[in-house]
Amino acid sequence: MIKTVGILGAGQLARMLAQAGQPMGLEFVFLDPAEDACAAEFGQHICADWDDESALKELGQRSDVVTFDFENVPESSASLIESLCPVFPPPRALYESQDRLREKTMMQELDIPVAPFFPVANRPDLIAAVEKIGLSCVLKSRRFGYDGKGQAVLRFQEDMERAWQQLGDFELICEAFVPFQAECSIIAARGKDGQTVFWPLTRNLHRGGILAISMAPAFDVQLQNRAETMIQNLLDHLDYTGVMALELFLMDGELLANEFAPRVHNSGHWTIDGAHTSQFENHLRAICGMPLGDTGISSPAIMFNLLGEIPAYAIQQAADPHPAPGLYWHDYHKTPREGRKIGHVTITADGQTELKARAAQLAGKLGVAAELDIEAIMSQAGE
Ligand code: AMP
Repeated sequence: MIKTVGILGAGQLARMLAQAGQPMGLEFVFLDPAEDACAAEFGQHICADWDDESALKELGQRSDVVTFDFENVPESSASLIESLCPVFPPPRALYESQDRLREKTMMQELDIPVAPFFPVANRPDLIAAVEKIGLSCVLKSRRFGYDGKGQAVLRFQEDMERAWQQLGDFELICEAFVPFQAECSIIAARGKDGQTVFWPLTRNLHRGGILAISMAPAFDVQLQNRAETMIQNLLDHLDYTGVMALELFLMDGELLANEFAPRVHNSGHWTIDGAHTSQFENHLRAICGMPLGDTGISSPAIMFNLLGEIPAYAIQQAADPHPAPGLYWHDYHKTPREGRKIGHVTITADGQTELKARAAQLAGKLGVAAELDIEAIMSQAGE
């Protein structure tokens, strides 16, 4: 029986895993080089680098199963732990997701639709890729890119030189720019026996390359089925155990895959308050060999990421004897820093009309109303 779960990484995803796992009777050990890692208050914290062999061994020895909360764990670290204790999701999924070229090539081989792409190792490659793809296109670093970092959009021929100056030192991929109508993600959990469950396809909005808002339900059953088929292909191919997220673009009624995350995902945070079983609980159920929980919606939900610092409105709500209904604040207890994900708030309501009203009011209180017209966003989502 599994009692202790080891997690490589002790950020907010590990923190929410531990919060879900404690009522299940699980204990947690984290390995993370950050002294003030925000999950640490929920378990034992081994403060060491990702490639510190003795720390990795200690994590493997103290855990019954090990998972991770970010995908850039060195492959050698995952393998070392695997020699001591089971690691889920399988390190192969980490390996495939760590390089955009490998990842996109694998998806193409699995008949998962992706935008046209080419590897770029030098200037002539870039010129050839732009010629084949046409403008606009996006130049991205193959590794260590997240939240839009390590990317440049090329709209005009003149942008090529600027993009090369910015990114030319990295291994790159050039892909077609997708003029999408919406961004979305499908999150699934697959058990050790291959049983797979899916949460409703979630609509996502980014600002400055960072996720700002997620909402569910947001799409019809046809798109849901197509997204499920795409992620199921990936899960089966990788003989996957745990939660996976697949980020998608919706364009002209078709879904194109952007990238997958071999872990719980920011766009699934609404499942804590809006689904019968959260992505965090089902990830733990999957890796511990337990049956998976119901992924159905308990209330329609919208999640806002909180960046930089906890807003005054959240603090005021915490002190209010009659706080606004249907608001669930999650403070990750991280040191405030500009642009840093420090928490999120999920809004739920019994119906879409009430949800819209609550979301618009909250957007106003958080000062994001001007940029994010909730009414327009939700009507586009085809609720
Ligand atoms: P990524 O790091 O690949 O997840 O990209 C971050 C964000 O950049 C995505 O969520 C999109 O908003 C945007 N983006 C990335 N790739 C493309 C693309 N090929 N076409 C249009 N937008 C893109």
